[in-house]
Amino acid sequence: MSQYSDLLYEGKAKKVFKTPAPDQYYLEFKDSLTAFNALKKGTFENKGQVNRDIAARVFEYLGGRGIASHYVRAEGRNGMVVKKVEIIPFEVVVRNVLAGSTAKKLGIEEGVALSEPLVEFYLKNDELADPFVSEEQIRIIYKIANAQMLEIKNYALKINEYLKELFLGIGIRLIDFKVEFGKDGQGNVLLADEITPDCCRLWDIKTNEKLDKDRFRRDLGSVKESYEDVKQRLMQVLK
Ligand code: UDP
Repeated sequence: MSQYSDLLYEGKAKKVFKTPAPDQYYLEFKDSLTAFNALKKGTFENKGQVNRDIAARVFEYLGGRGIASHYVRAEGRNGMVVKKVEIIPFEVVVRNVLAGSTAKKLGIEEGVALSEPLVEFYLKNDELADPFVSEEQIRIIYKIANAQMLEIKNYALKINEYLKELFLGIGIRLIDFKVEFGKDGQGNVLLADEITPDCCRLWDIKTNEKLDKDRFRRDLGSVKESYEDVKQRLMQVLK
C-alpha cells in the first residue's frame, strides 16, 4: 500500500497517484505482467519492486548523462515520485536488432542486426492495439511539427546509445526498447513512463538468453529470475 490515496489512473503495470505537490505524481509499480495488449495476464512476487529499482537506476544513470526525465526519486517499496507531464500519445521504439512482431511481420529471422538504429512510432491506443504510424501520418494527421518529431527521434537515439553502453557493460545486448515522452508545465519534453525488462528486449551476450518480457510472452519460464538478474547486474555498476 502506498501512502497516497488519491488514485488518478490505473494502468496495466502502474498506478498513478496525486501527491501534495501540484507538479508531481507518485507512480506505484504493480506486480502484474501483461502481453498482447493485455490478452495474456500474469504476475510475480515483488515484480513491482524489481521494476521500480531497475527504472530508478536507469533514470538516474541517464540523468547523469544529460537525459532529462520525469524521474524525481524512488520512494517506498515500489514507488517513484515523478514530475507531472502530459504524455505525448506516441510510443517510440528503437531497434538495434530485428525481433518480435516486426521480424515476424516482415518475415525476417529474429536476431538480424540492423546497420543503424531504427526509430519507429506507434499510436498509444489500446483499443486500436497501438498501431504503427509513419512520420508523415504524425505530421499530417496529428499535426505534430517535423521539428518536434526530430527532437524526439534524436532524444530516443541518444537514449539508445547510453542504454546500449550501460547494458553492454553488464553483459547484455540491447535488442530494442520502447519509450514514452511527456511535456511538463513549461513545455519541456521529458523522458517519461519506465525503462524496465517489460519494455526492452535484453539478451545475454554470451548465451543469447532472453532476460525480458519475452520470457513471459513466450512461456520460457524463469521470468522472475531474469528480471532479478537484470536488477542485480545493474546494481553492480550503478549504486
Ligand atoms: N513494447 C512495449 N510496449 C508495447 C509494444 C512494444 O514496451 O506496447 C516494447 C517491446 O517490449 C520491445 C519493443 O517495444 O522491447 C519492440 O516491440 P515490437 O514492436 O517488436 O512488438 P512486440 O513484438 O513486443 O509485439
